[in-house]
Amino acid sequence: MTALASLLARRIQATGPITVAEFMTEALQHPRHGYYATRDPLGAGGDFITAPEVSQVFGELIGLWCADTWERMGRPDPVLLVELGPGRGTLMADALRAIKVAPDLRGALRLHLVETSGVLRALQAKALGTATPTWHDRLDTVPPGPLLVVANEFLDALPIRQFERRAGGWHERRVGLAADGSSLAFLLEPAPSASAALIPGRYTGAPVGSLVEVCPAALTLAAHLAQRLNATTGAALLIDYGSSESIGGATLQGVRKHGHHPVLEEPGDADLTAHVDFAAFAAAARSAGADVHGPVTQRDFLCALGIDARQRRLLETASVAQAEAIRAGVTRLIDPAQMGVHFKVLALASPGLAAPAGFAGQSP
Ligand code: SAH
Repeated sequence: MTALASLLARRIQATGPITVAEFMTEALQHPRHGYYATRDPLGAGGDFITAPEVSQVFGELIGLWCADTWERMGRPDPVLLVELGPGRGTLMADALRAIKVAPDLRGALRLHLVETSGVLRALQAKALGTATPTWHDRLDTVPPGPLLVVANEFLDALPIRQFERRAGGWHERRVGLAADGSSLAFLLEPAPSASAALIPGRYTGAPVGSLVEVCPAALTLAAHLAQRLNATTGAALLIDYGSSESIGGATLQGVRKHGHHPVLEEPGDADLTAHVDFAAFAAAARSAGADVHGPVTQRDFLCALGIDARQRRLLETASVAQAEAIRAGVTRLIDPAQMGVHFKVLALASPGLAAPAGFAGQSP
């Protein structure tokens, strides 16, 4: 058992099985043993790779999206540029470089990063040099005011709860101990759960054996963003993998060295992630008053923002080796068989703000 698994086993012995969300929170965020607290997980030598690490074009196009949205917002000065879960800071570094085409925005923006990991905060500080960000553990402490929010692969790291349909109702799946006490194991609560109220109404008729995931932290975040967007002017861009429709089923997975890893094994040493339920997120934001655009596929979004033209510009001055890397990166981002369709892009906006770039034809 890892040090964290032993701690969790003792906790379970003392107070009983924990929810999957509690397990996920400890595995990812435990201050001494948590996955994100203890390492930089990104890149070819790490456990997974993300779009900004694949190609600089990704962050550059998001920077241009911010500049364009800021114009639509009426050029507020100051404006908060907030990133949730900035990883190595690569997306923001590329975005800020692209934003140089809009010097007024560069002067107006105040950079705020929501990041719990000390290791990653240090890498962000290095990547962002003189941009002087302010760091936060949570969005709550970011000051009020007009804002642009960006989050890539942040929502999938938020803790989910799982419920299984039984004849008498929904029972919560928890993490307890195997019969011999030597390892962690999934088990089902014996009685229907009072928390089943969290499950969206469309699952009411789901057959016995169905499994549903809910992510209360994502729904709270959607409502919080919507409240801010209602109180001022702004937009939020959320990019992640998941389905546009709520389809149910277990998507929680462990990831290590670019492959699957059993969820309960070696907690703290593997990433844990679940597909984002964009429909549930959008519904929570809409009912808290935000306009919602999308989700659209990452491919459609990046193509609408002009990824082809951006690639051509870079190729003009690239060496043969660089050209090959640029083409491979762009292909990986938009190819339907790679990241192009699996990843979706959703925007929340202040009520009445014109549809942001990349969401043409999408009705709010
Ligand atoms: N956006 C980056 C990194 C994605 S990995 C990229 O695309 O490369 C997830 C990021 O979210 C990491 O920076 C991680 O430390 C951060 N994170 C995860 N859960 C968090 C939470 N609950 N609060 C704040 N940051 C969190």
